[in-house]
Amino acid sequence: MNANTLPGQPHIAYQANTLCMENVKLADVAAQFGTPVFAYSKASMLSALAAYQRGFAGRKVQIFYAMKANSNLAVLQVFAKAGCGFDIVSGGELARVLAAGGAPEKIIFSGVGKTRAEMKQALELGIACFNVESEAELEVLNDVALSLGQKAPVSLRVNPNVDPKTHPYISTGLKGNKFGVAHENAVKTYKRAAALPGLSVVGIDCHIGSQITEAMPYLDAMDRILDLVVDIEAAGIPIHHIDFGGGLGIDYNGDTPPAADALWQQLLAKLDARGFGQRQLMIEPGRSLVGNAGVCLSDVVFMKPGEQKNFCIIDAAMNDLPRPAMYQAFHQIVPVRPRAGAMTLVDVVGPVCESGDWIGRDRELNVQAGDTLAVLSAGAYCMSMSSNYNTRGRAAEVLIDGDQVHLIRKRETAADTFQGEHLVP
Ligand SMILES: *Cc1c(COP(=O)(O)O)cnc(C)c1O
Repeated sequence: MNANTLPGQPHIAYQANTLCMENVKLADVAAQFGTPVFAYSKASMLSALAAYQRGFAGRKVQIFYAMKANSNLAVLQVFAKAGCGFDIVSGGELARVLAAGGAPEKIIFSGVGKTRAEMKQALELGIACFNVESEAELEVLNDVALSLGQKAPVSLRVNPNVDPKTHPYISTGLKGNKFGVAHENAVKTYKRAAALPGLSVVGIDCHIGSQITEAMPYLDAMDRILDLVVDIEAAGIPIHHIDFGGGLGIDYNGDTPPAADALWQQLLAKLDARGFGQRQLMIEPGRSLVGNAGVCLSDVVFMKPGEQKNFCIIDAAMNDLPRPAMYQAFHQIVPVRPRAGAMTLVDVVGPVCESGDWIGRDRELNVQAGDTLAVLSAGAYCMSMSSNYNTRGRAAEVLIDGDQVHLIRKRETAADTFQGEHLVP
């Protein structure tokens, strides 16, 4: 680690007053590929994965990268080569895994609204497991599997009703959420699943939320899930694997989530104490594998001083970086080449015609039009949630590996954004 390393981002640091990712100057990336552009550090992704792998040494575990966090094919390729499977939430994501060279046997399928067509596609490919979220889904999956002469491997996503203490839009394991089967109905639903001829019960899963920065909600959820495993197995239904989902937070702004290996040390101690230490385990991390591996580089278009607020208008917007508008989320914003001199208080905003189009409020910056800024911790839930609102083409993406820069997605042109549309005669 370098003294100039940015918090939570060991592969991003100032060297000779210029921001670098691994051995590449980010100013050069902006100059070569234009802005806005996302840059991801391969070393950072692999070191985030390594923290989990260290934590699980000697255990039976499969890590499924929750690819909705960042589904670029090259990112999937990095994780597939490192041994990860994938947690998918749509048929489109399934197609992406295959395009990236991922194996169907290492795919699990989550989500509350899987269609028959998606179930059929996944069954024909032979995925590892369907994480089923309702009784209605069980019946339909049974039907689709029988029509194909197959048995669908299923796990029930149980809602343990614990508060992950995160933003309400990213908490998923409370009673009022749309996700999963209620804890008190779980045994009954398992009995139903076991009775259906087109299904084969293989596991249990939970996913309590995202950007979780404490160990306690995980420990509570684990107790609740293990209680259920005992009850379900007492009803004569063996549970082969236990899947604890994803949700571990990252450092956006001085957040202090437990390290993945430290968290799992605690969780494995609990599993051991309760006699489940040798069970097949699964996890579905997303944000914690990619979030701090990425930055979005964006040029300052105009400075607009005002009576109440000074605005720094950049060429990235809510269509590229939707998290502030969606969750009032905080991303650090730093200059790629810091200037000497006094800071001023500015709101960093995009060009989109919405007051919600802000990227950072009340930031101390010393910048001028033409400078390049780096929006940090932009590796997760940014590009994958991006849109073409205001007919803005999506940004380019590059993967940085040592001193190599690989273009992994070209910038969309205006023509790309309307290529599927038709005029009427
Ligand atoms: C989104 C999601 C994940 C990953 O969540 P992170 O907070 O990105 O780790 C895991 N499992 C399921 C079912 C999800 O929907």
